[in-house]
Amino acid sequence: MSATHEEKSFRENVNLTFDIAAATLDIPDGLAYYIKGVNNVYQVRFPVKINGRMESFIGWRAVHTEHKLPAKGGIRFSPLVSQDEVEALAALMSYKCALVNVPFSGSKGGLVVDPKQHDADTMERITRRFAFELIRKDYINPAINVPAPDMGTGAREMAWIASTYAAQKPDDINHLGCVTGKPVTQGGIRGRTEATGRGVVFGLREFFRHPEDVKQARLEGKLEGKNIIVQGLGNVGYYAAKILQEEDGAKIVAIIEWDGAITNPQGFNIEDVAEYKKHQGGIKDYPRGNYIADGASVLEHECDILIPAAMEGVINARNAVHVKAKLIAEAANGPVTFDAEAILKEKGVVMIPDIYLNAGGVVVSYFEWIKNLSHIRFGRMTRRWEEAQNELLLDAMQSSGRPVSDDIAIQLKQGASELELVRSGLDDSMREAFQQLRELYWLNDKVHSYRIAAMALAIEKIALSYREMGVYP
Ligand code: NAD
Repeated sequence: MSATHEEKSFRENVNLTFDIAAATLDIPDGLAYYIKGVNNVYQVRFPVKINGRMESFIGWRAVHTEHKLPAKGGIRFSPLVSQDEVEALAALMSYKCALVNVPFSGSKGGLVVDPKQHDADTMERITRRFAFELIRKDYINPAINVPAPDMGTGAREMAWIASTYAAQKPDDINHLGCVTGKPVTQGGIRGRTEATGRGVVFGLREFFRHPEDVKQARLEGKLEGKNIIVQGLGNVGYYAAKILQEEDGAKIVAIIEWDGAITNPQGFNIEDVAEYKKHQGGIKDYPRGNYIADGASVLEHECDILIPAAMEGVINARNAVHVKAKLIAEAANGPVTFDAEAILKEKGVVMIPDIYLNAGGVVVSYFEWIKNLSHIRFGRMTRRWEEAQNELLLDAMQSSGRPVSDDIAIQLKQGASELELVRSGLDDSMREAFQQLRELYWLNDKVHSYRIAAMALAIEKIALSYREMGVYP
């Protein structure tokens, strides 16, 4: 969303949070200033012939920091993408990686294109041409800069990018590590597609493990039975909503999409709505809910948890005062603006920030990248060995007169699959990061929100990295 005379730009929003967080830390101004800025941005224009006509496209890849390499961050395809947005998203990636202890710095790419306006063949030519330009300048490279999916892109685009890189750099043995979020058959990792949405759920589960934090949001208990509104049933929103409904027993009482919103106080079956959306292109006229044409107005409906999972700036100075959710879980990047946050805080609304909550994607991207560099699936060498060891243990229990039930024996016998290992690593990363940020929030009087706590932790880790490298003594 671009800046209007009322609203600050996305980058300004990110930088205002940065300034407040940096002021709580004991780091030199010069270092804070250096970390805040974007190190480099590459703008590219290129032509693609579509239906016999030459069309021009413009895109960017921004690198925010380079304290750890590669730089990491998605590529967004949207008609609204801008350099400001790409820079803001690159900065968020640096902070996100630092916060969840993923050894990458931040980058982001964007191409001004509406994927809905082109068929698959045309999108493939556009994607490959954009990738070609970025590869030429090392803005895609397994050691330097590794993209991933974002809004408007997914496994399909990542496979095209990986294949373009392999064609351009046939001698790079690590070519598969040039991009993450690939299909599993093309060097991807099980659990990547769902990772951001599942990470949102792991983050929420961890929040609900801390009664003090839950009480602060004027809530109690667990996720079960909570009324939830989700905006955006795309990659992130779909998986978050599906897991919350199917595994946690939460009720998704409203879904907001580009063509309006649907509500149902009994809660939706997410799979059913997603199936409908896949065939109809939207959620309008979905038969098992009430349709509301002004989708954004549903952000103001009563609920326990509001999950904006579509785009930035949707909760802003204009509508924040009307928001009735008790807890806002920022699944998208930057959905709550800086000004809105102050209004929400005043109203007692608790917010779990994007740089923490949607970090699941980059955590699992990190696992995928490691898999690509090691050229072997996680668990391949240990799974059967683990099973044999567990079998021995069960036999020993049996012969010492302490047998276990068949159900437990089956579970105990199994060695971990790649998917189980990925989910376990993701859960661990999300739990640990929340524990760190809540500790800072509760113990430091200068830190007044989870967002500031998350940002302060991230800045501190990046600053330490630069200092240890000798950049700032
Ligand atoms: P996506 O393109 O898969 O899904 C976006 C969804 O939002 C779509 O269903 C789209 O129809 C819907 N939408 C578009 N305009 C809307 C509007 N005006 N109102 C309501 N819904 C609207 O994108 P995604 O990958 O799910 O990304 C969503 C957000 O999450 C973005 O902010 C992105 O930066 C962030 N994010 C994504 C990932 C990831 O792994 N994909 C990781 C971290 C953060």
